[in-house]
Amino acid sequence: MQSFSYEKPGSTAAIVARLAEAGGTARLLAGGTDLIGQIRSRLVKPSLVLDLKGARELALLGADASGLSIGAAVILNRLLEERAVSEGPYRALTQAVSELASYNIRNRATLVGNVTNASPCADSVPPLVVLDARAEIAGPSGTRELPVLELISGVRETRLGPGELVTRIRVPAPAPGTWSGFLKRKRVRGHDLALANVALLRDPERGRLRMSVGSCNPVPVLLDLDAMFARPEVERAVALALERVRPIDDVRASIEYRREMVAVMVRRLFAEAPRS
Ligand SMILES: Cc1cc2nc3c(=O)[nH]c(=O)nc-3n(C[C@H](O)[C@H](O)[C@H](O)COP(=O)(O)OP(=O)(O)OC[C@H]3O[C@@H](n4cnc5c(N)ncnc54)[C@H](O)[C@@H]3O)c2cc1C
Repeated sequence: MQSFSYEKPGSTAAIVARLAEAGGTARLLAGGTDLIGQIRSRLVKPSLVLDLKGARELALLGADASGLSIGAAVILNRLLEERAVSEGPYRALTQAVSELASYNIRNRATLVGNVTNASPCADSVPPLVVLDARAEIAGPSGTRELPVLELISGVRETRLGPGELVTRIRVPAPAPGTWSGFLKRKRVRGHDLALANVALLRDPERGRLRMSVGSCNPVPVLLDLDAMFARPEVERAVALALERVRPIDDVRASIEYRREMVAVMVRRLFAEAPRS
């Protein structure tokens, strides 16, 4: 592994300042479960690694009537331990997190790291997309927000500008009666990356039906199915999903198997979702 300097700044402002000074040679470390492997395999070669865990504000997890606010240093297991999250209306997200890697990995890995790593198979992303989650970003010219779907621009690519970091992810509280669900298909029963994953959200107050499919395209696919809210047409939803997904053949699955599994998961989620 190539050598690099390691620093743990004590605030978001200090991280932004060090990113600016390093001029593109620094990488951010949250849990490191993706980053360290990438450094080992020389995919990235930072001269400076900035640990986010020194900034206390990034470790804050908020859950109130307006929604969730998940800081960049919040580990995944905390989302499962916080009753307001795991027993609340964020079901698709907690289902995805509980299926993400193993308990030990989730004790280090963060939700924000899962999103900013921008892997097509990231499990948390389809639920965050249907839940309308937004990323709060800090950088040299202040703060801004982007929907999670817009933040991811390609395989391991984001729309973060030079010197920017995601400080937190905000998930607005779903309207009363909202149901959401997540399914993941993998090669083995134990922990494994998804060969395809799907999230579905049904919001009866706003008549919204949203589906997101991951691990098939470079960025997750979002389907707006509001038009069939009153009378869901499952096979039409399957056809719409299959029109949009562009899976690849790789060690995890063939194109055909991925497409077949997307269809199976869409049917299962529609069968699970309440009708009224
Ligand atoms: C054995 C194993 C199994 C796994 N299984 C799964 C799985 O089933 N499903 C799944 O989705 N993932 C899986 N992963 C991948 C990984 O654990 C997750 O993506 C994890 O959530 C990444 O979070 P992290 O905090 O470790 O990120 P890090 O490794 O610290 O960072 C990931 C990337 O994001 C950047 N980054 C981190 N924080 C920020 C920020 N705040 N702003 C901007 N950029 C930032 C880093 O510089 C790096 O490029 C697995 C990994 C391992 C090692």
